[in-house]
Amino acid sequence: MRVLVVEDEPRLAGLLARGLREAGHTADVRHTGGEGLLAATGGDYDAVVLDGMLPGLDGLTVCRTLRDRGVRIPVIMLTARAAVPDRIDGLDAGADDYLPKPFSFDELLARLRALHRRAADRAGTALQTGDLRLDPAARRVSRGGTEIELSAREFDVLALLMSRAGQCVTRYQILDEVWDGETDLRSNVIDVYIASLRAKVDKPFARRAITTLRGAGYRLEPDGG
Ligand code: CA
Repeated sequence: MRVLVVEDEPRLAGLLARGLREAGHTADVRHTGGEGLLAATGGDYDAVVLDGMLPGLDGLTVCRTLRDRGVRIPVIMLTARAAVPDRIDGLDAGADDYLPKPFSFDELLARLRALHRRAADRAGTALQTGDLRLDPAARRVSRGGTEIELSAREFDVLALLMSRAGQCVTRYQILDEVWDGETDLRSNVIDVYIASLRAKVDKPFARRAITTLRGAGYRLEPDGG
């Protein structure tokens, strides 16, 4: 994911950029509201991490201006002030999410992924892996033209695996993105869902698309198995 970080505090901006890159994303940094607005309007970003308190244009103004210009890029606002009225201001200004400082970097990453996925869902871009096809807008899955009935959670797990086909998706990432971390890692809920997905997506078609990576997570084979 390509992320624009707009943060005037050099240390935090540097930490965010480094953390994002280490997590496999691309990160560009701008230090003022004006520069941030310019970059977000002109650049090809998947998300903006926008500090609320910035020199020049503040974060709220940057966000409102983006929306006024019809730029729908997902925005997550950071602010030192966690008071409810400020949060409402941020959401009114068109921010998609809100994270009070100090925050954990893992939480920021999780929120960014959730925003990115919701944006992709809205865009309704169908995912295709081999002959496996998933249409987020219609919430339909098919293999080689044969419709597959999935529950909502099974659908979300498969969408996540398909969006990263060929890569390892950890159990933590699945819990984080599909269950919003509401269930704990010791539970076998993921094994249950992976087993039922295999029974629906692989077995009837004599495929083995979903691979278990022992101690690491799962991978959907890029050719669809
Ligand atoms: Ca600031």
